[in-house]
Amino acid sequence: MSVFDNESFRHHESVHFFSDEATGLQAIIAIHSTVLGPALGGCRIVNYADSHEALDDVLRLARGMSFKNALAGLDLGGGKSVIIPPKHWQGDARHQGSDRAALFRAFGRAVQALGGRYISAEDMNVSVEDVENMALETDYVTGLDVAHGGMGDPSPLTADGVFYGMRACARRAFKDGVLQGRTVAVQGLGKVGWRLCEHLHEAGAKLIVADIVPETAERAKQEFGAEVADADAIVGVKADIFSPCARGAVINDDSIGQLQVKVIAGSANNQLSRDALGEELMKRGILYAPDYVINAGGVINVAPEAKGEVNHEWVRKKVEKLEDTVGEIIDEALRSHRPTNAVADEKAMRRILDRRDSGRAWQPPFAKTPKLRHSA
Ligand code: NAD
Repeated sequence: MSVFDNESFRHHESVHFFSDEATGLQAIIAIHSTVLGPALGGCRIVNYADSHEALDDVLRLARGMSFKNALAGLDLGGGKSVIIPPKHWQGDARHQGSDRAALFRAFGRAVQALGGRYISAEDMNVSVEDVENMALETDYVTGLDVAHGGMGDPSPLTADGVFYGMRACARRAFKDGVLQGRTVAVQGLGKVGWRLCEHLHEAGAKLIVADIVPETAERAKQEFGAEVADADAIVGVKADIFSPCARGAVINDDSIGQLQVKVIAGSANNQLSRDALGEELMKRGILYAPDYVINAGGVINVAPEAKGEVNHEWVRKKVEKLEDTVGEIIDEALRSHRPTNAVADEKAMRRILDRRDSGRAWQPPFAKTPKLRHSA
């Protein structure tokens, strides 16, 4: 199937396939839009079933990044990249051999070849060390360690943004509008989920938690007095808020009927297995905070780095504003009786198209108007 016939292809500006025989690199970089700025989005390495699945993933994720960056008010476009693990890694995306550095350096050269239209960062199975290997070959990568002039781990900022967004949801979903005394079910106690639990505990919320690592859940019981649920059962527990902070597609055709909450607000990407479930949630009276809006704290954190700057104060203020952004989307959705995810997509698209139509679309540094060869 060609790129253009793929159902996830939606007017992407360009899609680039890279291979490097020496390292076994096979990578795809999808640039959805550079209207607002260079396309920023992470790189993931995943053991896909085949290259069609990899293509589908990168197309979907790149568009998501355009919308995420647009609604976070950043002057950045949307792109994403995927690496298919070399055959001799035997499906292990976390393979730690000495050839890992070479693979990520080869990927860095691919990013550099795009001349700044795409800026990479870490994503699934890609570590800070991998990113630093990319940075040996390209100027266009973010997410470096603080010691190397980067903005550091984005996860705390993602958690902060989810907490602010959750407050906006509580204000609309519950009569008293507060989190104190509310029961929040948190799925996944990793870098984001754990810090979110800290905020919620401090705000006086009751926690029900689940993690596939039992010791982690046990630790939350000790630290926050949390009730521990089975990892498979957390989606269906009775609570005020469900916060997916582990993996995507948690809200799907099977799980939607199990939900016993008033609000869904968490950090996981692509929480809905398909967009139409947003409408289904609305019909069931469940308020959904669109994932890419509420989890934008991480990308806001790397945004200064994309311009070669470090500015923690700017990031902090911008992440706080996510409370208003989430609130505005919910209010518009309630006013117009539309699903929150549809309203978010439309608002993001509107910002991109307004910029394009104003004639102020971002131009890559190397773009020059060619000399006219023929006069009209
Ligand atoms: P992480 O890998 O640090 O944590 C994930 C946690 O979820 C781990 O503790 C893991 O054991 C647990 N887990 C995995 N599968 C589970 C399951 N089925 N049930 C319960 N627990 C499970 O990841 P993170 O950085 O905390 O990110 C969490 C989610 O938020 C991911 O989906 C990520 O893509 C998304 N996200 C993260 C950031 C960020 O800045 N880290 C930004 C945007 C989106």
